[in-house]
Amino acid sequence: MEAAARLRDPQAEAPDSVFTSQELEELILKDKKAFLKTKCAECGGTCGLAKKYKETMSVIIKSMMDTFWCRDCGRVVCDAHRYTHTCEKLDALKERNAKITKEALLEQLRADEERKEAIEAAAKDEQRRAAEQLEQEKSQRKAKRKILATKAKQVENFIQQRSRDADGLRPGVHNQLLELYPRVRGLALALYNQFEHPDSTEVGGKDWDDVKEIYAQARRSA
Ligand SMILES: [Zn+2]
Ligand SMILES: [Zn+2]
Repeated sequence: MEAAARLRDPQAEAPDSVFTSQELEELILKDKKAFLKTKCAECGGTCGLAKKYKETMSVIIKSMMDTFWCRDCGRVVCDAHRYTHTCEKLDALKERNAKITKEALLEQLRADEERKEAIEAAAKDEQRRAAEQLEQEKSQRKAKRKILATKAKQVENFIQQRSRDADGLRPGVHNQLLELYPRVRGLALALYNQFEHPDSTEVGGKDWDDVKEIYAQARRSA
Protein backbone atom coordinates (compact mmCIF):
# COMPACT_ATOMS: atom_id res chain seq x y z
CA MET A 1 0.00 0.00 0.00
CA GLU A 2 2.81 2.35 0.94
CA ALA A 3 4.54 1.88 -2.39
CA ALA A 4 1.32 2.38 -4.28
CA ALA A 5 0.55 5.56 -2.34
CA ARG A 6 4.03 6.85 -3.09
CA LEU A 7 3.60 5.95 -6.76
CA ARG A 8 0.29 7.76 -6.91
CA ASP A 9 2.03 11.00 -5.97
CA PRO A 10 2.49 12.69 -9.39
CA GLN A 11 5.64 14.53 -8.13
CA ALA A 12 7.33 11.18 -7.63
CA GLU A 13 6.50 9.95 -11.10
CA ALA A 14 8.97 9.81 -13.91
CA PRO A 15 6.48 10.29 -16.75
CA ASP A 16 9.00 9.21 -19.36
CA SER A 17 9.08 5.77 -17.74
CA VAL A 18 5.41 4.90 -18.10
CA PHE A 19 4.23 3.21 -21.31
CA THR A 20 1.41 1.28 -22.77
CA SER A 21 2.43 -2.03 -24.27
CA GLN A 22 2.23 -0.60 -27.75
CA GLU A 23 4.21 2.55 -26.86
CA LEU A 24 7.00 0.53 -25.31
CA GLU A 25 7.16 -1.90 -28.24
CA GLU A 26 7.39 1.00 -30.66
CA LEU A 27 10.14 2.67 -28.61
CA ILE A 28 12.17 -0.55 -28.49
CA LEU A 29 11.78 -1.23 -32.20
CA LYS A 30 12.11 2.34 -33.52
CA ASP A 31 14.43 4.06 -31.03
CA LYS A 32 16.41 1.44 -29.17
CA LYS A 33 18.95 4.06 -28.04
CA ALA A 34 16.28 6.16 -26.30
CA PHE A 35 14.75 3.03 -24.82
CA LEU A 36 18.05 1.91 -23.28
CA LYS A 37 18.22 5.26 -21.41
CA THR A 38 14.79 4.85 -19.77
CA LYS A 39 14.97 5.56 -16.02
CA CYS A 40 13.32 3.48 -13.29
CA ALA A 41 9.79 4.78 -12.60
CA GLU A 42 10.22 4.06 -8.91
CA CYS A 43 13.67 5.34 -7.99
CA GLY A 44 14.45 7.50 -11.01
CA GLY A 45 17.81 5.73 -11.27
CA THR A 46 19.18 3.78 -14.19
CA CYS A 47 17.49 0.56 -15.13
CA GLY A 48 20.75 -0.90 -16.37
CA LEU A 49 19.07 -1.53 -19.72
CA ALA A 50 22.01 -0.33 -21.79
CA LYS A 51 24.37 -2.70 -20.01
CA LYS A 52 22.04 -5.66 -20.47
CA TYR A 53 20.55 -5.08 -23.91
CA LYS A 54 23.04 -3.03 -25.90
CA GLU A 55 23.97 -6.08 -27.96
CA THR A 56 20.49 -7.66 -27.98
CA MET A 57 18.24 -7.52 -31.03
CA SER A 58 15.20 -5.27 -30.53
CA VAL A 59 12.79 -8.13 -31.32
CA ILE A 60 14.33 -10.18 -28.51
CA ILE A 61 14.20 -7.22 -26.09
CA LYS A 62 10.53 -6.78 -26.99
CA SER A 63 9.84 -10.40 -26.07
CA MET A 64 11.44 -9.81 -22.63
CA MET A 65 9.43 -6.71 -21.71
CA ASP A 66 7.94 -8.31 -18.62
CA THR A 67 11.36 -8.43 -16.95
CA PHE A 68 11.63 -4.61 -16.79
CA TRP A 69 8.08 -3.41 -17.30
CA CYS A 70 4.86 -3.84 -15.26
CA ARG A 71 2.01 -4.56 -17.61
CA ASP A 72 -0.54 -3.56 -14.94
CA CYS A 73 0.55 0.07 -14.52
CA GLY A 74 2.90 0.49 -17.47
CA ARG A 75 5.99 1.43 -15.41
CA VAL A 76 9.48 0.55 -16.54
CA VAL A 77 11.57 -0.21 -13.43
CA CYS A 78 15.10 -1.22 -12.47
CA ASP A 79 15.90 -4.84 -11.50
CA ALA A 80 15.68 -4.12 -7.77
CA HIS A 81 12.30 -2.44 -8.13
CA ARG A 82 11.00 -4.94 -10.64
CA TYR A 83 11.13 -7.68 -8.00
CA THR A 84 9.67 -5.59 -5.20
CA HIS A 85 7.31 -3.70 -7.47
CA THR A 86 3.83 -3.04 -6.23
CA CYS A 87 1.34 -0.61 -7.74
CA GLU A 88 -2.23 0.60 -7.43
CA LYS A 89 -3.34 -1.95 -10.04
CA LEU A 90 -1.65 -4.85 -8.29
CA ASP A 91 -2.85 -3.67 -4.89
CA ALA A 92 -6.41 -3.33 -6.18
CA LEU A 93 -6.18 -6.83 -7.61
CA LYS A 94 -4.88 -8.23 -4.32
CA GLU A 95 -7.54 -6.34 -2.38
CA ARG A 96 -10.24 -7.64 -4.69
CA ASN A 97 -9.00 -11.21 -4.33
CA ALA A 98 -8.92 -10.87 -0.54
CA LYS A 99 -12.45 -9.46 -0.60
CA ILE A 100 -13.68 -12.28 -2.82
CA THR A 101 -12.10 -14.82 -0.49
CA LYS A 102 -13.71 -13.16 2.54
CA GLU A 103 -17.11 -13.01 0.83
CA ALA A 104 -16.86 -16.65 -0.21
CA LEU A 105 -16.00 -17.56 3.36
CA LEU A 106 -18.95 -15.58 4.73
CA GLU A 107 -21.22 -17.15 2.12
CA GLN A 108 -19.98 -20.58 3.17
CA LEU A 109 -20.68 -19.78 6.84
CA ARG A 110 -24.14 -18.51 5.92
CA ALA A 111 -24.90 -21.68 3.96
CA ASP A 112 -23.64 -23.85 6.84
CA GLU A 113 -25.83 -21.93 9.28
CA GLU A 114 -28.88 -22.26 7.03
CA ARG A 115 -28.30 -25.99 6.65
CA LYS A 116 -27.95 -26.37 10.42
CA GLU A 117 -31.19 -24.43 10.99
CA ALA A 118 -33.03 -26.54 8.42
CA ILE A 119 -31.88 -29.75 10.11
CA GLU A 120 -32.91 -28.46 13.53
CA ALA A 121 -36.30 -27.35 12.22
CA ALA A 122 -36.88 -30.77 10.64
CA ALA A 123 -35.93 -32.51 13.91
CA LYS A 124 -38.31 -30.24 15.83
CA ASP A 125 -41.10 -30.99 13.34
CA GLU A 126 -40.48 -34.70 13.72
CA GLN A 127 -40.55 -34.39 17.51
CA ARG A 128 -43.81 -32.48 17.42
CA ARG A 129 -45.32 -34.96 14.99
CA ALA A 130 -44.30 -37.89 17.21
CA ALA A 131 -45.71 -36.15 20.29
CA GLU A 132 -48.99 -35.49 18.49
CA GLN A 133 -49.13 -39.12 17.40
CA LEU A 134 -48.62 -40.28 21.01
CA GLU A 135 -51.27 -37.87 22.24
CA GLN A 136 -53.70 -39.10 19.61
CA GLU A 137 -53.10 -42.74 20.48
CA LYS A 138 -53.53 -41.89 24.15
CA SER A 139 -56.90 -40.23 23.56
CA GLN A 140 -58.02 -43.13 21.35
CA ARG A 141 -57.20 -45.58 24.16
CA LYS A 142 -59.06 -43.39 26.63
CA ALA A 143 -62.16 -43.37 24.40
CA LYS A 144 -62.06 -47.18 24.05
CA ARG A 145 -61.61 -47.63 27.81
CA LYS A 146 -64.62 -45.44 28.41
CA ILE A 147 -66.73 -47.62 26.12
CA LEU A 148 -65.51 -50.82 27.85
CA ALA A 149 -66.10 -49.38 31.35
CA THR A 150 -69.62 -48.35 30.33
CA LYS A 151 -70.39 -51.80 28.88
CA ALA A 152 -69.00 -53.52 32.00
CA LYS A 153 -71.26 -51.32 34.12
CA GLN A 154 -74.22 -52.38 31.93
CA VAL A 155 -73.36 -56.06 32.46
CA GLU A 156 -73.11 -55.39 36.20
CA ASN A 157 -76.56 -53.73 36.16
CA PHE A 158 -77.99 -56.55 34.09
CA ILE A 159 -76.77 -59.23 36.53
CA GLN A 160 -77.91 -57.21 39.54
CA GLN A 161 -81.35 -56.82 38.04
CA ARG A 162 -81.66 -60.50 37.22
CA SER A 163 -80.42 -61.65 40.63
CA ARG A 164 -82.92 -59.42 42.50
CA ASP A 165 -85.81 -61.02 40.73
CA ALA A 166 -85.43 -64.53 42.16
CA ASP A 167 -88.98 -65.47 41.17
CA GLY A 168 -89.06 -67.55 38.02
CA LEU A 169 -85.38 -68.47 38.29
CA ARG A 170 -84.17 -71.94 39.05
CA PRO A 171 -82.34 -71.95 42.43
CA GLY A 172 -79.06 -73.00 40.82
CA VAL A 173 -79.28 -70.13 38.38
CA HIS A 174 -80.05 -67.62 41.10
CA ASN A 175 -77.05 -68.77 43.12
CA GLN A 176 -74.85 -68.50 40.07
CA LEU A 177 -76.00 -64.91 39.45
CA LEU A 178 -75.35 -64.03 43.10
CA GLU A 179 -71.87 -65.42 42.71
CA LEU A 180 -71.21 -63.61 39.41
CA TYR A 181 -72.44 -60.24 40.61
CA PRO A 182 -69.60 -59.26 43.00
CA ARG A 183 -67.06 -60.45 40.44
CA VAL A 184 -68.50 -58.36 37.64
CA ARG A 185 -68.86 -55.40 40.00
CA GLY A 186 -65.15 -55.62 40.84
CA LEU A 187 -64.22 -55.92 37.16
CA ALA A 188 -66.44 -52.98 36.16
CA LEU A 189 -64.80 -50.86 38.87
CA ALA A 190 -61.30 -51.94 37.76
CA LEU A 191 -62.13 -51.06 34.15
CA TYR A 192 -63.46 -47.68 35.23
CA ASN A 193 -60.29 -47.03 37.21
CA GLN A 194 -58.23 -47.92 34.13
CA PHE A 195 -60.26 -45.36 32.20
CA GLU A 196 -59.68 -42.66 34.84
CA HIS A 197 -56.07 -43.52 35.75
CA PRO A 198 -54.52 -45.94 33.29
CA ASP A 199 -51.31 -47.62 34.52
CA SER A 200 -50.35 -49.11 31.14
CA THR A 201 -51.16 -48.80 27.42
CA GLU A 202 -53.34 -51.93 27.62
CA VAL A 203 -57.02 -51.46 26.76
CA GLY A 204 -59.48 -53.88 28.40
CA GLY A 205 -57.08 -56.74 28.82
CA LYS A 206 -57.99 -59.78 30.94
CA ASP A 207 -60.58 -57.80 32.96
CA TRP A 208 -62.59 -57.13 29.83
CA ASP A 209 -62.26 -60.77 28.67
CA ASP A 210 -63.63 -61.88 32.08
CA VAL A 211 -66.56 -59.45 31.79
CA LYS A 212 -67.46 -60.91 28.38
CA GLU A 213 -67.19 -64.43 29.76
CA ILE A 214 -69.41 -63.59 32.77
CA TYR A 215 -71.98 -61.91 30.53
CA ALA A 216 -72.10 -65.00 28.33
CA GLN A 217 -72.62 -67.21 31.38
CA ALA A 218 -75.35 -64.95 32.77
CA ARG A 219 -77.17 -64.92 29.42
CA ARG A 220 -77.03 -68.70 29.15
CA SER A 221 -78.50 -69.28 32.60
CA ALA A 222 -81.04 -66.47 32.68
ZN1 LIG B 1 14.39 1.53 -9.28
ZN1 LIG C 1 2.79 -1.92 -11.68
